[in-house]
Amino acid sequence: MNQPSIVPEEATRARLDLPKDCNEGVAYIDGAYVPIAEARIPILDCGFLRSDATYDVVHVWKGAFFRLDDHLDRFFNGIERLRLTPPLHRDAVRATLHECVRRSGLREAYVEMICTRGLLPSGSRDPRQAANRFYAFAIPFVWIADPIQQESGLHLRISSVERIAPAAVDPTVKNYHWLDFIRGLYEAYDRGGDTTVLVDGNDNVVEGPGFNIFAVVNGGIVTPKVGMLEGITRRTVIEIAAVLNLRLEERALPATTLRRCEEAFATSTAGGVMPIARIDGHSIGDGMGPVTATIRAHYWALHERSHYTTPIDMRAVEV
Ligand code: PLP
Repeated sequence: MNQPSIVPEEATRARLDLPKDCNEGVAYIDGAYVPIAEARIPILDCGFLRSDATYDVVHVWKGAFFRLDDHLDRFFNGIERLRLTPPLHRDAVRATLHECVRRSGLREAYVEMICTRGLLPSGSRDPRQAANRFYAFAIPFVWIADPIQQESGLHLRISSVERIAPAAVDPTVKNYHWLDFIRGLYEAYDRGGDTTVLVDGNDNVVEGPGFNIFAVVNGGIVTPKVGMLEGITRRTVIEIAAVLNLRLEERALPATTLRRCEEAFATSTAGGVMPIARIDGHSIGDGMGPVTATIRAHYWALHERSHYTTPIDMRAVEV
């Protein structure tokens, strides 16, 4: 099949005649839309002080959201699990995301929705008393590996750092507990890597900073089953593999197995299906392997399907 172009379109700003200060994005805070550079949160928000928050990120491609309802489902599931009560219901969140993108004029965007524990009454440390808050923003599309880097493939370092235990922080609730990832990233950079994947207590790889991991082992695809966020891109890959009749197993992926795999790739809303060319300094395959290339092409082709996409009316007027 033809490889779809994954180079972003030009933003439509000129046509929409948007203010210049929306160039880099638009945020929604306290009922108002502001240019991203002016977006501020209160310093006492427990989301900031305690990482007491959940969030989700959906992307916009060629002027349409990709799998918006799946992202909203995951977001509201996380909200429930953390016993948060957002000030906006689902339809209002959806409308706010549309409006952030519309005001930014971006046709390729990274769109984040956040619910924080919010502000406590003065002197209180009781999370039940907090007034939960909702924020959202749309900024230009973010790539963990951009299309050029994807041609050569990422250099992945398997970290010595363990991902925070699922028994402590549920990784299926999208969260800001990232100090383990940041440690892993510095470790990777110090060793010439582009990024890292963290392990669990049994030396199985689980996930990286913002992505899930897949390997092709003995001709079949393997991805971890537990200990990680159930990524929407990961789900898309699992569905693509089923349609293409590719063997795929969700099971533990030991670091030693990943090191000797035939192919590997990372998946994320921030970049799609991203080939890994080297692991811990050793080349795997010849850059982008055939399984990775096939899945990546199908992933981008789904962005043309109305079943997966929600177009944004860039001309809509605010109500
Ligand atoms: N794992 C973590 C820790 C993430 O933060 C993300 C996305 O940001 C992913 C995996 C990939 O999830 P998705 O494909 O839904 O973007």
